[in-house]
Amino acid sequence: MAKRIGVHLGTAGGASKAVERAQEIGANTFQIFSSSPRMWRAPKPDPKQCERMRTLRAELNVGPLVIHTSYLVNVCSQSEETRVKSIAAFRGEVERALALGAEYLVLHPGSWKGLTRDEGLKLAAQSIEKAIDGLPWQETSFSILIENTAGAECSLGGNFEQVAELVARLKAHAPVGVCLDTCHTHVSGYDIVTAEGYAETMNQVAATTGFDAVRVWHCNDAKAARGTKLDRHEHIGQGNIGVEPFRWLLNDSRFNHCAFIAETPVDEPGDEERNVRVLKSLVSAQS
Ligand SMILES: [Zn+2]
Ligand SMILES: [Zn+2]
Repeated sequence: MAKRIGVHLGTAGGASKAVERAQEIGANTFQIFSSSPRMWRAPKPDPKQCERMRTLRAELNVGPLVIHTSYLVNVCSQSEETRVKSIAAFRGEVERALALGAEYLVLHPGSWKGLTRDEGLKLAAQSIEKAIDGLPWQETSFSILIENTAGAECSLGGNFEQVAELVARLKAHAPVGVCLDTCHTHVSGYDIVTAEGYAETMNQVAATTGFDAVRVWHCNDAKAARGTKLDRHEHIGQGNIGVEPFRWLLNDSRFNHCAFIAETPVDEPGDEERNVRVLKSLVSAQS
């Protein structure tokens, strides 16, 4: 199977339009939001769009389909009101992901501000379980992917251990895996830029989440320096990470099963296509 490389795309004109758009720019996988990422209420997807999505993806061999959860969702909020809203919103995310036939739904584990990290972890696991309770995910290949974050104060998932802990808690109750983001990994303090650092960081992955659980790599260069905890994405090869670590990652056989998806800025028309092209150019012939 060819390496799965793609980019986050807009859904103007309907979610299924993104499949055509992915194909046009040379991507064979992609990520979308299934609703406005800054609004709590979201309509159910149009069944015709869901059908068209399935047909087009099968026809054009585009997948996996990755959906990114709205930024408003905070499943470990200290405020019960926010948590209740978040659980309902996340349930909607899962329902839409299942309706659209998505393989993966990426979730930032949230902020435990006002609580202890351990309380946050417990709440996150409970909330996710509640959100998916009774939904028909067992009959599908659908998974929720917990993403590592940039490591800002009180944000859950700022290191691989926390992601692994949440996954371990959820495992018996939910289909769950991991999404790692290169920018978040870098700014949260891991070295993926030097060859030794990359090897050591991958040892950390092995010791925490393991390689098999990682299903998606968000491929983003970083505007900020390592350890700054500043989450600012940059075009591949133009930031503090540089192009080589992406080459290592794309040709690392331990991630052969992964999809690689850029969430790079769109500063000019064509930027999505350019970042996909750069990532594809880094894959060596034997990999
Ligand atoms: Zn990301
Ligand atoms: Zn980010």
